[in-house]
Amino acid sequence: TAVVDLTGVTKTYGSTTRALDGVSVAFAAGSFNAVMGPSGSGKSTLLHCAAGLDRPDSGQVRLAGEEIGGLREPKLTRARRRRAGFVFQSYNLMDSLSVWDNVLLPQRLSGVRPDRAWARDVLRRVGLSGREHDRPAQLSGGQRQRVALARALAARPEIVFADEPTGALDLSTGREILALLREAVDDLGATIVMVTHDPVTAGWADRVVFLADGRIVADLADPTPEKAA
Ligand code: ADP
Ligand code: ADP
Repeated sequence: TAVVDLTGVTKTYGSTTRALDGVSVAFAAGSFNAVMGPSGSGKSTLLHCAAGLDRPDSGQVRLAGEEIGGLREPKLTRARRRRAGFVFQSYNLMDSLSVWDNVLLPQRLSGVRPDRAWARDVLRRVGLSGREHDRPAQLSGGQRQRVALARALAARPEIVFADEPTGALDLSTGREILALLREAVDDLGATIVMVTHDPVTAGWADRVVFLADGRIVADLADPTPEKAA
């Protein structure tokens, strides 16, 4: 079943820049997907429309079965918070909050009772047990991105969106983050849509969708055998 399903999505900035031009694509539950393409091809716009961070001009966006393409604020934010987790290139952590409070923040913002046992488990999985009281400023870039990943997973979202998650990291640290994303899919059943311009990064995904000038120009599924349960 599809967790995100876009149909004929178009988005134009200003009067001329057609960032997305009739894009239709669905991402399956439990899969790791990459969206690739050159700078300006519409990758971020696709992610923003799929995640409810932005509204398309036309077309449909279903997020976990809910049509969000036409939602306005504050309903859009509510749907996004309930269903999606985010990992960004620049981590986007709250500098004034501890690791622990950063990880629980999305659940607190959406008014659900934080699942602390699960948050602890997720922090252990990303290798940050014992760092709960640290502030982001005390952590390396790779550790900050691990916090961001823990935050994204802690609310058990239906989907995790990752926008150039290794873009600010050196190669080996980036590989560690990609391995953790891969584990989230394989071990926790997470669904990930990751935007990247880097083919090696995209190679970690099960499926790579290529964009050029706001259109899908290729869609390569890696025939990964059924994952062991
Ligand atoms: P990518 O993520 O592949 O680099 P984007 O989705 O950011 O591409 O951009 C697609 C096109 O839309 C580009 O031509 C970009 O300049 C334009 N664009 C993106 N966001 C905005 C915006 N907020 N205002 C105006 N133009 C934008
Ligand atoms: P509240 O929901 O009122 O913010 P919490 O019970 O979540 O309170 O936590 C209070 C403080 O205790 C937090 O700011 C956090 O620093 C710390 N804390 C709570 N649980 C843990 C934990 N499992 N590991 C580390 N620190 C924790």
